[in-house]
Amino acid sequence: GGVIGILGGGQLARMLTIAAGRLGYHTHVFEPEEDCPAAPLTSARTTAGWDDMAALDAFAEAIDVATYEFENVPTAALDRIERRCAVLPGRHALAVSQDRVDEKQFLNDLGLPTASWAAVDDVPGLTTALAAIGAPAILKTRRMGYDGKGQVRLKDDAPAAAEAALAELGGAPCILEGMVDFDSEISVIVARAGDGSVSAYDPGTNEHRGGILRLTTVPCGQPERVVTDAVLMAAKIVTSLEYVGVMGVEMFVTKGGLMVNEIAPRVHNSGHWTQAGAAVCQFEQHVRAIAGLPLGDGQRHADVVMENLIGDDIERIPTLLAERDTQIHLYGKSEVRPGRKMGHVNRVTRRRD
Ligand code: ATP
Ligand code: MG
Ligand code: MG
Repeated sequence: GGVIGILGGGQLARMLTIAAGRLGYHTHVFEPEEDCPAAPLTSARTTAGWDDMAALDAFAEAIDVATYEFENVPTAALDRIERRCAVLPGRHALAVSQDRVDEKQFLNDLGLPTASWAAVDDVPGLTTALAAIGAPAILKTRRMGYDGKGQVRLKDDAPAAAEAALAELGGAPCILEGMVDFDSEISVIVARAGDGSVSAYDPGTNEHRGGILRLTTVPCGQPERVVTDAVLMAAKIVTSLEYVGVMGVEMFVTKGGLMVNEIAPRVHNSGHWTQAGAAVCQFEQHVRAIAGLPLGDGQRHADVVMENLIGDDIERIPTLLAERDTQIHLYGKSEVRPGRKMGHVNRVTRRRD
């Protein structure tokens, strides 16, 4: 038993809460929004802002370990919580993933290939970066981007368009990335326990629509050597960070081999298939890791296609309910908005013996 504190109350927190409950833990969710997906399931809640130090203190007193469902948790809030209890995954992984420049530098220092990149600290820096990286390229905010928000594509190196893009993103600091000509995108969901043991799920192929993940398919259809490379790269990342918990590692498959796109120090949307395709899903695996339990069996026992239900997709629920071999997850969000993740389905396409 014990109490797991979760920072953020979205769908990832909701599914972590379910997994924690199955293992006999209580959860305590800290989330500023009153109406959040984790609300009906968590044993306790704090509804307060990230700058409410008294609320953070009381939260940290009430839990045994803190984890988070999103990588943009304010640093000051974590500093405060860490005075009273451990935060897992640790701060180093979080810091690296919060800043795209630090993230790329960290990956390259490990010897892992990424898109070519240059930091953009001001308007003149953009010209220098464009000259170094060339077009086409993608300009991204260094911090806070998600679901493809906070990025603009530059099809050529025209300075006026580039400056307009920078202004659109709210100015520097940004990162300019060379456009990777990838064959496909895959991700590895990897877990590391405090004793250093590492377990990775089979990589999945990811397809996006409008910058948002739409489908994840396992198996990913890549040759065995690509799968092995992907898993070894993910393992190298979590090992070097002395990471504890589940991480999502997004990669590009290119003619020249794999490149790492970004890392997410948390359970990951592209790992939702594990709920239907492995004995121990990513949410339970994360709970096990941060609670100091042994990692579970992540062996894939089925072929699965995970489909996100985004915005109006929710209207398809009656049809989805009639499908065989389809596991439906709804996040309990009352308001439908375009681009909003309302739920997902896991379709088992083949069972393995
Ligand atoms: P997420 O919701 O996964 O956190 P994000 O907003 O952090 O997304 P990225 O993963 O960096 O953004 O980019 C979103 C998508 O844009 C990628 O999955 C990929 O399809 C495309 N993309 C990003 N960077 C590049 C690049 N350098 N070259 C080619 N395509 C890219
Ligand atoms: Mg991201
Ligand atoms: Mg991404």
